[in-house]
Amino acid sequence: MEDESFSNSESTLVFEACFEINEREANSSIRASFNGLLKDAPGESTAIANGLSQQLIHQINLILPNALVSCEGFNVDLEDAAFLLVQPPAQQALHRAIQERGKTMLVNSGYRTLAQQMLLFNWLNGISPVAEPGKSNHQSGLAIDIEDPRGWEPYLIRHGWYPLAGDPPHFDFDGGGIQDIRRTAILAFQKLWNENHPTEKISEDGAYGPQTAKALNRAPANGFSKAPWDNSPRVLRLSRPMMEGSDVVRLQEKLKATGIAVSTDGLFGVGTEKAVKEFQQKNNLKPDGIVGATTLEYLK
Ligand SMILES: [Zn+2]
Repeated sequence: MEDESFSNSESTLVFEACFEINEREANSSIRASFNGLLKDAPGESTAIANGLSQQLIHQINLILPNALVSCEGFNVDLEDAAFLLVQPPAQQALHRAIQERGKTMLVNSGYRTLAQQMLLFNWLNGISPVAEPGKSNHQSGLAIDIEDPRGWEPYLIRHGWYPLAGDPPHFDFDGGGIQDIRRTAILAFQKLWNENHPTEKISEDGAYGPQTAKALNRAPANGFSKAPWDNSPRVLRLSRPMMEGSDVVRLQEKLKATGIAVSTDGLFGVGTEKAVKEFQQKNNLKPDGIVGATTLEYLK
């Protein structure tokens, strides 16, 4: 499964103006709750497609288990559209660098899904450097954009994270045991599209061509009606960005049916966490607010 020969070196890296991208996202006031297609999505922040992005992330991990792992619990602060998901060796290295400096790391961008990259490409192509979906280093789970890059640089370099010349906030991980998962990111979308469009299937080849580009633009920003977690549940918890989707709605409806007050907005926020803890307490489960297999079983 692992490609031992893969090196995330300059020959495989694509230059993008991450600084400009991050500025746009930080200054945008438009957030999720857009019901249209990706091609019609307005605004500056790719958070508008967080629903679809979360489906893509889950699908990637179904194809390649543990391809992307979360940095939950790290001393970090995240922008609304920043999924801090990286490959396992990159995660361990990042953890060590943050611990060594003993400061909060402000992350503007981590894993960028194909949906996010499509938005950026639609908004910025011809204006500033932006990679085609599937080509960005951020689709590999080996890239981050951070604040105070020069302050972090020595700590990151010591652990295998290197700055990219000309793109100040951007660092790429190049250590052992990593793989190029950019084709998997494309394949994940293709599978998800086909699952939802049985009469309009596209090739599941992991390549980004005109057919995939067209389908991606026609994908709903909120996510498809058939979601990858329908058959393989994801662990639901309070996280940043907040988890959202049909599985969160189902959870909230079940909690509500047991008599616990909770909104059924499909967003796992503090209210939902509180409701989960209440449910866990009532059922003598560990009240950690995390919905894994056990809590899910009790909710059936
Ligand atoms: Zn970047």
